[in-house]
Amino acid sequence: MKVLRDVPLAPLTTLQVGGRASYFAEATCTEEVLEAYTWARSQNLPLFPLGSGSNLLVSDDGFEGLVLKISLKGITVDEDDQYVTLTAAAGEVWDKLVAQSVDAGWAGIECLSGIPGSCGATPIQNVGAYGQEVCQTITCVSVYDKVEQKQKTLPNSECRFEYRSSIFKKTDRYVVLSVTYKLQKDSTPTITYPELKAQLTQQPTLKEVRAAVLALRRRKSMIVDATDINSRSAGSFFINPVVDASFADALRHRYPNLPTYPLGSAVKLPAAWLIEQAGFKKGYRRSRAAISSNHALAIVNLGGATAAEIIALMKEIQDKVEQTFGIILQPEPVFLGFEPSLAR
Ligand SMILES: Cc1cc2nc3c(=O)[nH]c(=O)nc-3n(C[C@H](O)[C@H](O)[C@H](O)COP(=O)(O)OP(=O)(O)OC[C@H]3O[C@@H](n4cnc5c(N)ncnc54)[C@H](O)[C@@H]3O)c2cc1C
Repeated sequence: MKVLRDVPLAPLTTLQVGGRASYFAEATCTEEVLEAYTWARSQNLPLFPLGSGSNLLVSDDGFEGLVLKISLKGITVDEDDQYVTLTAAAGEVWDKLVAQSVDAGWAGIECLSGIPGSCGATPIQNVGAYGQEVCQTITCVSVYDKVEQKQKTLPNSECRFEYRSSIFKKTDRYVVLSVTYKLQKDSTPTITYPELKAQLTQQPTLKEVRAAVLALRRRKSMIVDATDINSRSAGSFFINPVVDASFADALRHRYPNLPTYPLGSAVKLPAAWLIEQAGFKKGYRRSRAAISSNHALAIVNLGGATAAEIIALMKEIQDKVEQTFGIILQPEPVFLGFEPSLAR
């Protein structure tokens, strides 16, 4: 494994901003992950696992440590009459796995079509879209545990999956090596998300669901496409806030049109709605950063933006939404090389 010096990180992220990694290496097998970790520890440097950089904002000062690009490949398939169990190495492309599953007629991840990134990153924030979350199909995650300095497997119950979160988002203890998903054979998809349901017939096929999801995502620039400037983003920049039912009731009293979604005993509010009601129009621009003209939740690099410009727009949105609704929007992407206090 080769360790490189001063590697620019912006081209390795979909937002395309930020500085350099003081050290950079690529791991193509488990042994190289262990080697990289041992090297970083010997140099007293932090190690940051990098997938496809689609949920990442790198600071203009870059990262003083080892960025390890996770490029482990391979998918194994295990079938019985009813289920298929797929184990994907962390560096496999997520949407490739979704496409293969849909083509084979295996149900469970079709609504997660078009989400950029690697399989290894899917458990980190429990990726979700259009009524599905990846935790519904993950049976276990194989990791390298930096604390115990050994490989182990965490069953779903130990991953502490929540809405856009998991144990992996809360600690940097684990490097994901592979993820195991259990999908259903010969099953008709269950569509719960109204916007998606509206695009489909009563009993759509998996392929029809995938096509509808991809079309919806493309309309919102939620598919990475070099020809679409609005997709030069990290996807949704803010997490939909989850509030107490009583707080949501009080807000609904003031704003009768406020859409609300039950989440256990709490209520999820659409951050995009809050942003637009707070006065930001799609396409709102601040220097070289802007709100996507196709989706109020995405912050876009219009070309040559710095991380500071992205942060300035993020703060402007957060301040206005807080003043208007008393809600502090939390950023969704992972911040690398910033002060920990930045993500309020
Ligand atoms: C246009 C667009 C649309 C998007 N739409 C959605 C969406 O609908 N739903 C959704 O949930 N997300 C969405 N995202 C966010 C993003 O695609 C997902 O979070 C994705 O899982 C990130 O994968 P990645 O490989 O790019 O991770 P990276 O951005 O490289 O990393 C993200 C985090 O995961 C960690 N990580 C990555 N790989 C590993 C590993 N092997 N072991 C340990 N930690 C690791 C990194 O250290 C970092 O903390 C979107 C992003 C974009 C740009």
